Amino acid sequence: MPKVKHRHSKARGRKRRTHYKADAPVGVKCTHCGKTKKPSQVCPYCGYFKGVQVMKIETIEERKERRDAKRTRP
Ligand SMILES: [Zn+2]
Repeated sequence: MPKVKHRHSKARGRKRRTHYKADAPVGVKCTHCGKTKKPSQVCPYCGYFKGVQVMKIETIEERKERRDAKRTRP
C-alpha cells in the first residue's frame, strides 16, 4: 500500500472538493395527476401508484376537521 508522505493543506483538499457536486433530485411525472413525484413511490398529491389509488390524500379542510374533532372530545 502506498503511504502518504506529506499532509496536504486545507486549501488543497478544499480545492479538490470543489468538484464534488450533489446531483439534482430525480423526479418522474405521475401517470394520474401529472405532477412531479419520486420514482417508485406513491404520488403524495393524489395517492395513486401504477394507476391504482393506494392512499387517501386529505385536503387541508378535512385535516382541520379531523384535528378539531379530536380536540373537542372530552
Ligand atoms: Zn399523482
